[in-house]
Amino acid sequence: MPNMKMVELGENRSVIRDLFEYGLKRKKEVGAERVYDFSLGNPSIPAPQKVNETLISLIEHTESTALHGYSSAPGDPAVRKAVAESINRRFKRTQTADDIYMTCGAAASLTISLHALLCEGEEVIIFSPFFPEYKVFVEKAGGVVRTVGAREKDFGPDLDAFKSAVNAKTRAVIINSPNNPSGAVVTSEDLRAISEFLKEKQKIFGAPIYILSDEPYRELVYGGVEVPYVMNFYENTLVCYSYSKSLSLPGERIGYIALCHEAQEREKVFAAICGAGRALGYVCAPVLFQKMLLSCLEEKTDLSAYEQNKNLLYRALCDMGYTCVKPEGAFYLFIKAPGGDDAAFCEQAKKHDLLIVPSASFGLPGYMRIAYCVSLQTIQNALPAFRELAKEYNL
Ligand code: PLP
Repeated sequence: MPNMKMVELGENRSVIRDLFEYGLKRKKEVGAERVYDFSLGNPSIPAPQKVNETLISLIEHTESTALHGYSSAPGDPAVRKAVAESINRRFKRTQTADDIYMTCGAAASLTISLHALLCEGEEVIIFSPFFPEYKVFVEKAGGVVRTVGAREKDFGPDLDAFKSAVNAKTRAVIINSPNNPSGAVVTSEDLRAISEFLKEKQKIFGAPIYILSDEPYRELVYGGVEVPYVMNFYENTLVCYSYSKSLSLPGERIGYIALCHEAQEREKVFAAICGAGRALGYVCAPVLFQKMLLSCLEEKTDLSAYEQNKNLLYRALCDMGYTCVKPEGAFYLFIKAPGGDDAAFCEQAKKHDLLIVPSASFGLPGYMRIAYCVSLQTIQNALPAFRELAKEYNL
């Protein structure tokens, strides 16, 4: 008999995936243009042209065995060095190639980091609303999730609740900024408060507590909002980065872990990262995409389409009477469920072929997530359905 925990995970797909599959079926029935699918965070902006040009050039000009062969387990040394130098240039750090582990995206960065750090029964603090896979990743690594809420006014971390949650078993804290699903960005002030508190607690407990900074949306910010760089506040930091959203490459599975160069016992922690990568089979991230990064590390997608979508949707929904969290980053709009029951509202929305995600699986019931990484036309077409729903709920 297989491992029943894995059977359960495999059989119970995420709410988001279920909704996405439902959307595919519905599109076949009524036509794609009649289904307003806001379920999945799949980038709608194309990857920068330079990415495609670089890939073509690599294929045409690199000897096949070098192009498609293994790299060393933590990644190509030249790529790791380039990633470190890029971090140093942008965030005034002192990273070296030896602090960088190339991965298959942020999901792999997180699972490797959690396996590297956690011993059975140790706790990981996550802030709700959170990316639902955190629970799966932490529990698979033998850890226990402790959830801390957000402030309702701005969706920043509830610092008092955070301080009460930290205890001698706390081994890591996951910060996700810009946030999926709220779009909120953690301010320097909040980050400083979290860091200073953890520094005190590390001394008291005589053991390190790590911050895992899950930041696939770092570059997706609007209106000049700054996303503070966690290592600049706290040394025991592992940045879990991915190019899935910043370069619109989610299917290519490429990202990295950057262990802060000043982390305590840096060499041991990096060895644990390599060990976890080995144990999980996450070695040698896709080599073609590692090599592409050498030329495209600081390429940017044109965010204007997301910004246009966000502005249109936010204004229109506020005008209709919905209560929306003002998004500062990522490509999600988080809105309060009229009537208070997110599952019931999303079911009602489905009757209008409006596919939005109820928030319970993000650890904060009573809201819905709208992924606005879609065409502007989809948003325009969906507005009458949102208006009908507003009427049905007397907004
Ligand atoms: N973390 C967050 C907050 C995400 O939203 C996602 C994907 O949507 C991931 C991690 C996983 O990203 P990747 O596709 O790079 O594995």
